[in-house]
Amino acid sequence: MKYVIVIPDGCADEPLDELAGKTPLEAAKIPAMDRLASKGKVGLANNTPSHLPAGSEVANLCLLGYDPDQYFTGRAPLEAAAQGIELAPNDWAVRCNLVTIEDQVMKDFTADHITTEEASELLASAQKELLGGSDLESRFEFITGVSYRNLLVYRGTGPDEIFSADTRTSAPHDLTDLSIGDDFPRGPGSDLLVRLMNESAALFAQHPVNLARVAAGKRPATSLWLWGLGGAPALPSFKERFGIQGTMITAVDLLRGIAALVGWPRIEVDGATGYLDTDYAAKGKAAVKALEDHDLVCVHIEAPDEASHEGRHEAKVEALEQIDQHIVQPLEEALQSYGDHRILVTPDHPTPCTTKKHSHGSVPLLIAGTGIEADEQHHYSEVAAESSDWFYPKGWDMMDEFIKS
Ligand SMILES: [Zn+2]
Repeated sequence: MKYVIVIPDGCADEPLDELAGKTPLEAAKIPAMDRLASKGKVGLANNTPSHLPAGSEVANLCLLGYDPDQYFTGRAPLEAAAQGIELAPNDWAVRCNLVTIEDQVMKDFTADHITTEEASELLASAQKELLGGSDLESRFEFITGVSYRNLLVYRGTGPDEIFSADTRTSAPHDLTDLSIGDDFPRGPGSDLLVRLMNESAALFAQHPVNLARVAAGKRPATSLWLWGLGGAPALPSFKERFGIQGTMITAVDLLRGIAALVGWPRIEVDGATGYLDTDYAAKGKAAVKALEDHDLVCVHIEAPDEASHEGRHEAKVEALEQIDQHIVQPLEEALQSYGDHRILVTPDHPTPCTTKKHSHGSVPLLIAGTGIEADEQHHYSEVAAESSDWFYPKGWDMMDEFIKS
C-alpha cells in the first residue's frame, strides 16, 4: 500500500462575508479534492486539545498520530531537531523570532520577512552584546535558522535549573496587531527572557542592519521575541508506531523537526519557500517522484496559514487552488499506478482570516483510496465535514485508522 498525506497548513476557516458567506475552502475551485471527497470520506478531527497551544507544533504531532500530552515538550525543541541540534536531557531550546513592534503593538512577527543573512548579523550582535562577558555566555547560544525563525539554546547541568514546564510564553503570530503588554514570558526563568527581549530593542534600534532596511523601505527588526521553549522530546519512530517508513516535504523548520524526530528523511525542494510564493508544482513533482522510493509521502504546505495570518482571504483561496491543481491532482493521478493506495488531506488546525490567528477546534479531514467506502459527501469543506458523524475528538487516533484499518 502507498500512502499520501497532504497538509494545507491552517486551511480550516469560517464563513466570510467577503466570500458571500463561504469559507475559503468552499469558495476555492478544488476539483481534485472534491473528486476525492466523492470517492472517499469527509469527517472531522480535533488536533488542538484545549489545554495546549493551538499551534502547528501540537496539531501536526496529533495529526501524525502522537498524543501531545505524552510527546510534546515545546515548539522550539522540534525546530532544533530540524536543524540537527541535539538537546541533552537538561538542555532547553527557545524560539527566537525577529519581530517588528511599534508603540507596544506587534506589527509584524516576521520583521517583514527579514533575510537569513540579516538575521544572522543581528543574532551575532545579540550574542556579543547581551550575553558576552557574563556568566551566561557559555550556557546560552543564539542560533540562526531561516529568516525570522531562529533559536536560543540553553545548555543545562541539572533538571529545572532555570526554566520549567511552568514557564509560559506567547506566540508572536498570535499577537498580530495586538498590544504585547501582557504577553511577555512569565514563570521560572522569565526574568532572563524578558531582559534579553528588552535589551535587544535598545541594541537593534540603531543597528546597521535596521538602518539599511529602513532606508530600503522595509520594516526593521525592532527586537527579539522569545517563546515556545521546551526540553528534549523523545518520540518513538513512525515506523515503530505504524510499521511504515515515511518521508516529509516541507519548507518549514517545525515540520522538518517533527519529521526528524519520527525518523522520516526530508526531501528539500528548490523553490519551496514556506510562503505564498512557493513553487507548488515543484512540490507536487517532488512528491510524485518520492512515491517511487517511499511507502508514505507527506507534503506540508504553509501558504494557506500565512495568508490567514495576513488576513488575506483571496490569497488563501488562491493557495488552496494551487495546492489542488499542482499537488493533490498529480498525486492522485500517480497513485493510480501503484495498486493499493490511500490519500489523506487535512490541515493541522484552523487559522481564521478574521482573527489572523491559529485557533482551537476541529478541522475537516478527507480520506480516499483502497478499502475506504464512499460517504455521501461530494465536497471537501468545513460544512461537509460538520455534517458528517465521522469525528476524531482525539486527533491522534486518526492515523491508526488511516494506516491500518
Ligand atoms: Zn499550522
